[in-house]
Amino acid sequence: MTVIDQSNQGDGSSSDNAAGHPRIISLANQKGGVGKTTTAINLGTALAAIGERVLIVDLDPQGNASTGLGIDRRNRNCSTYDVLIGEADLREAIVETAVPRLHIAASTMDLSGLELELGATRDRAFRLRDAIGALNANAAPGTDYTYVLIDCPPSLNLLTVNAMAASHAILVPLQCEFFALEGLSQLLQTVEQVRSTLNPNLSIHGIVLTMFDSRNNLSNQVVADVRQFMGAKVYDTMIPRNVRISEAPSYGKPVLVYDLKCVGSEAYLKLATEVIQRERELRTH
Ligand code: ADP
Ligand code: MG
Repeated sequence: MTVIDQSNQGDGSSSDNAAGHPRIISLANQKGGVGKTTTAINLGTALAAIGERVLIVDLDPQGNASTGLGIDRRNRNCSTYDVLIGEADLREAIVETAVPRLHIAASTMDLSGLELELGATRDRAFRLRDAIGALNANAAPGTDYTYVLIDCPPSLNLLTVNAMAASHAILVPLQCEFFALEGLSQLLQTVEQVRSTLNPNLSIHGIVLTMFDSRNNLSNQVVADVRQFMGAKVYDTMIPRNVRISEAPSYGKPVLVYDLKCVGSEAYLKLATEVIQRERELRTH
C-alpha cells in the first residue's frame, strides 16, 4: 500500500498509548455497507449505557456516524478534518450527543481531500494517534474516555491507516452475504503491514457478523464459513437484520434510543458486554 512507506516508520511511542485508557478501537472494513457506522453508533451507545465514557471519531467523509447521532452539518464548524490537518485540537472538535457519556468528533466532506493535502508529510499516518494522545494527556481525572471508537471510511486509504496507527485493535463488521470473506484477507494483510511498520500493538479485537437473517440459508452458510475460517475471533453475538436498526439514523438516533426493546438493540447491548469481556481477558493475559 502506498500510504505505508519507510518515511512512516513507527517511532515506538505508540506503545505508550497501549498502557492506559482509553481503549482505542477502529471499526474497519474496506467494503461499504457492511455495518461499520451502524456498529460505531450502536456499540458506542450500548457501551455508554452500561457506564463507559465513549468517544466516536468519525473518519468517513460521508459523515454518517455524525448524522446518525443527530449532529447537524451546520454544527460541524470544527471537524476531524481540522484536527488531522493540524488546525485544531481533537477536544475542539468534540460535541456531546443526546446519549449521556457518548461524545463524537464529527466529520465533513473536506476529509476526502486530506490525503492530497498532506502529501508526503512525515507524520501523516500519525495525525490521529497524536491527536488522541494529546486529548488523553490533558483530560481532567475521571473525565477521560474509556473507549474511543473510530468509524473508518470504506477504503484502505490514509484515513484508515491513521485509524489503525492510532488503535489498540480493530473490530471488523462482516455482512452475512455471499462475498463476506472476499476482501477480508486483504484487510488482514493491511493490519499485518501496519503492525510491522506503524503500530506494533495493533490487534484484531474481533469480527462481528451483521445483518444476519436466520431464515436465510445463505446467511447460515456464511456464518459457518466465517466461524470456521476465523475461529474464536468471531464474536458469539450476531447482529440480526432488523428494520428498526435501519430506520433509526433518519431520526438522528441510535437504535437503542429509537427502540430499546427491538432485537437490534438487544444485540448491540450483548455485543458491548462481549467487547468488555474480551477487554478483561486481554488485560489479564
Ligand atoms: P458501512 O458504515 O459499513 O458503510 P452502514 O453501517 O452505514 O455500513 O450500513 C449500511 C446500511 O445498512 C445502512 O443503511 C444501515 O442502516 C443498514 N444496516 C446496517 N446494519 C443493519 C442491520 N443489522 N439491519 C438492517 N439494516 C442495517
Ligand atoms: Mg460508514
